[in-house]
Amino acid sequence: MTHPHANILGTVGNTPVVRVTHNVPEDVELYVKLEAFNPMGSVKDRLALGIIEAAERDGTLKPGQTVIEATSGNTGIGLAMVCAAKGYPLVVTMAESFSVERRKLMRFLGARVILTPASEKGTGMIAKARELAEKHGWFLARQFENEAGPDIHSSTTAEEILADFGENGLDYWVSGFGTAGTMKGVARVLKARSPRTRIIAAEPDNSALLSSGVVQPFNDDGSAAASHPAFRPHLMQGWTPDFIPKLAHDVIKAGHIDEICPVPGAAALRCARDLARAEGILCGISSGATFAAALDVARRAPKGSRILAMLPDTGERYLSTPLFAEIEEAMNAEEQQIAASTPRFRFDAAPAAAAPAAPVAASAEALAEVQALISDPEEPVVLFALEWCEFCWSVRKLFAAAGIAYRSVDLDGAAYRDGDRGGAIRKALAQVTGVPTIPQIFVGGTHVGGATETFDAVNDGRLQKMLAELGHAADTTGIGNAYSFLPAWLHPRKPAPDQAA
Ligand code: PMP
Repeated sequence: MTHPHANILGTVGNTPVVRVTHNVPEDVELYVKLEAFNPMGSVKDRLALGIIEAAERDGTLKPGQTVIEATSGNTGIGLAMVCAAKGYPLVVTMAESFSVERRKLMRFLGARVILTPASEKGTGMIAKARELAEKHGWFLARQFENEAGPDIHSSTTAEEILADFGENGLDYWVSGFGTAGTMKGVARVLKARSPRTRIIAAEPDNSALLSSGVVQPFNDDGSAAASHPAFRPHLMQGWTPDFIPKLAHDVIKAGHIDEICPVPGAAALRCARDLARAEGILCGISSGATFAAALDVARRAPKGSRILAMLPDTGERYLSTPLFAEIEEAMNAEEQQIAASTPRFRFDAAPAAAAPAAPVAASAEALAEVQALISDPEEPVVLFALEWCEFCWSVRKLFAAAGIAYRSVDLDGAAYRDGDRGGAIRKALAQVTGVPTIPQIFVGGTHVGGATETFDAVNDGRLQKMLAELGHAADTTGIGNAYSFLPAWLHPRKPAPDQAA
């Protein structure tokens, strides 16, 4: 039964479990729980909601108070959603090494993101969050120690698993750990209500903190007192910080981990890709890693075993990372061959020239309007544009970067729609300039040209000179090649004069 939700927060949790068969031994059942179905695409939506609502209940978070947390990204994105929906300002500290997608998503959701040096690792971003919370009186979410994390997993994730598999219906449950909120919260419920389920903890094979047996020192408040000596940089963003979190320590102490499974980075990448290509399941690197561990279990498990792997997030969060390193933007040889197998719409064959359009006479009224626009001494720079055309936007970005004030005449804008005034001006413009294309740029009544001519004029300093003669400044120092303001797919073949080899 579906029902309308009061707000987005009602859609957190209840993620689907899906069977996977490719590469899986036939006599076992392997399932994945897709946490990417949470509204912000990761398992951490659960924790974000759990921490904020627990703090609201016990009064540690006051209405309108700023929330702060250190995060590898997914917690920050989840918190950004919860804070947006509930009206709390959010500040996130994050090591610069986590994917750019994460930063941008948080900022898009209204959060502020304070980057910390990668060399300071996870402990650095956590210490920064603590420092900022103390200085400004902000609510620190403390995901690595906060019991609200495991609690929400006990009350949601674990219950969902029991509902899907029944009590004692699951033989293995496989998960990695970041905070270990998932692991602590789920493992204790399964141990109590599905005691036959074996708990498998996966971790990076080159940063195997749990397997090392080396004890993690803690401060009195449960935070880690030092980096763990076995930590090495690894691929699985969101897994294994440079310390064993208190929550992970708790699971080990409780004896809830039956086996630790080390996973090589290459296996994580391969499994994420295989899940995408063979199953249509798009997931991130830690998901690929968890699946690699689950496959390892599947190969050793007795016939008839049922295995569930947690897949924490979506693959879209990794476009800038090694997961997508081999995925090209341009067409590869095979794709080019397909493109060349039919005659039209190709890059390697020029389209047949269209017959030139018969010139259409512009109205006297539109011609007068163009004249008036380009000869206004108050606004000597005039850009005749279409609102959302990429060339027009490139010129706008260039003018903004150089501090050039201009008047934009958006011919397809609502202001020019009545009686097709925009179309009439466009005809007049074509007659005045001799070119039918948009944008067209004028400075002090002089026609500079379209986007390309304008970039050339900036690159060789002519535009700056024209402006100076009119008593207007333009600061083009440091903006580089004007063509760089074009999106990559619009870059013309002609290099700018200063870049010509
Ligand atoms: N994978 C990813 C991508 C994550 O962001 C996280 C959380 N940092 C985890 C796995 C681990 O989840 P948990 O913190 O509950 O251990």
